[in-house]
Amino acid sequence: MLPARILLDLAGGLLDVAFPRTCFLCRADLSSSRNQALCARCWRSLPRLRRRACDRCGTPDPLALWDGGCSACRRRSFPHRSLVAAGSHRGGLRELVHLLKYSGFRGAAGPLARILAARLRRQDTLRSHRIDLVVPVPSSASRDAARGFDHAALLARRLAARLGLPIDARALFRRRRAPPQTSLSGAARRRNLAGVFAARASRVRGRRVLLVDDVRTTGTTAAEAARALRRAGARVVVVAVVAASGGP
Ligand SMILES: [Zn+2]
Ligand SMILES: [Zn+2]
Repeated sequence: MLPARILLDLAGGLLDVAFPRTCFLCRADLSSSRNQALCARCWRSLPRLRRRACDRCGTPDPLALWDGGCSACRRRSFPHRSLVAAGSHRGGLRELVHLLKYSGFRGAAGPLARILAARLRRQDTLRSHRIDLVVPVPSSASRDAARGFDHAALLARRLAARLGLPIDARALFRRRRAPPQTSLSGAARRRNLAGVFAARASRVRGRRVLLVDDVRTTGTTAAEAARALRRAGARVVVVAVVAASGGP
């Protein structure tokens, strides 16, 4: 008898194979397209952030200063040097994140990595911060077991491959379980997550890390994970998320 995790893994793989040539979002036939996951129309309509955004929280803000961030972030200090979001957490982007995160469609990681890589290139993030390692925010083990894989690690792997950077999915880990964040306010989120993450110094000391997650809501998860990396000796942490929701 195979462990449940492997069975789920296989089932996830079969799902991907069962619908290889239709658009993930609108189900249009893709047999004549080279793109594996989305039709051209759905790809174009993803809600990208094109405007100037705050360098600390990723929220679009035309008045954000390059160094100080938006008005809310200028008064706060952050463990990460910068946060880059590819788009807003709505429409097709939200749908793709949900397909990956809750429905276990691995194929959704491809277009998500692609849109994030494009944003990072446009902002010249990797070169300006001299990033040399990609690390995913570890998702909770119970959620992974239900899904059959770690969605953030998969996204980070696809992204690292696109960017030509090494990935270390074991550099950061969870020390304990934390109840789901979804229904909590900002302060409660911080309490809930305090000390949840730890990083392995032997893997991150002196490194310049791109920390990858799917969605930034209040920014608490990214900040806690970045803090753990810094504590373990990472020189620079830049957070990259596919989608940002909510304000700073
Ligand atoms: Zn489509
Ligand atoms: Zn901000």
